Amino acid sequence: MLVNLKEILEIAEREQYAIPCINTPNVETLRAVIGAAEELDTPIIIDHAQVHDSLIPIERIGPEMLKYAREASVPVCVHLDHGSDYDFVLRAIRVGFPSIMYDCSALPFEENVKKVKKFVQIAHAAGITVEAELGVMASTEEDSHGGDESRVLTNEDIKKFFTEPQEAKKFAEETGCDALAVCFGTMHGIYAEPPVLDIDRVKEIRAALPEDCRVVMHGASGVEFSQVKQAIQAGCSKINYYSYMAKAATKFVADRIAETEGKIPYHELQEEAYQFMKGYAKDVILAFKNGK
Ligand SMILES: [Zn+2]
Repeated sequence: MLVNLKEILEIAEREQYAIPCINTPNVETLRAVIGAAEELDTPIIIDHAQVHDSLIPIERIGPEMLKYAREASVPVCVHLDHGSDYDFVLRAIRVGFPSIMYDCSALPFEENVKKVKKFVQIAHAAGITVEAELGVMASTEEDSHGGDESRVLTNEDIKKFFTEPQEAKKFAEETGCDALAVCFGTMHGIYAEPPVLDIDRVKEIRAALPEDCRVVMHGASGVEFSQVKQAIQAGCSKINYYSYMAKAATKFVADRIAETEGKIPYHELQEEAYQFMKGYAKDVILAFKNGK
């Protein structure tokens, strides 16, 4: 069944686990992620990233995502990932997305507040939930979200982007956003060195935010599971995960082509890749459920 972000994150908060939010830029990934959630009888968030729109436009993949969500036996939130252009965000609304990430984090604090606040008023009036971002999430060149940074970021570099708990509180109170992506040690894409998360910062942010605003972690791919688990216990209820799953699927496909000496028919390769991604997505869901 199709739900918005508020509805699905209430389940996460109640059950004290985190729900993965996985990009579904093609039908195989979409089937894999929904199938994984249904087999495990657990809620899931699927999202279309604005940067993936050059691969497949939201008007094409969006209705498919919504259809799979409505027909699913578990709660599914269809969400826009990193909508940074207002026109693009409006396109997601026209397609029927019940939840939007309006990312103005590249702007100064006051402008970020102003834009998100205005958008939340419109979105909430239409029953649409809003995620915002505070503290710029760094990206690497291998970033599947279209990051343009060519330098390698160390943990020291990432620290400069950390979200301040009191700023997060002010931001959430003024904008009324339903969820806030914050920076405490993760980044998008592939890590240059093992990331170190500031778990105390997550706790401080969770404590500072209004009760109904949830903490979101982006860039969970590649973070040691013990740290992800601590971040969940500290109050993260939505975790974005995609880069490493995409990378693993590529390796699987490359291996299958090599094993079959390139003779595997494309449709069979696609089907096997779907099965592989479903298994991978199940592992991610179970990990974020804290072993429950
Ligand atoms: Zn992100």
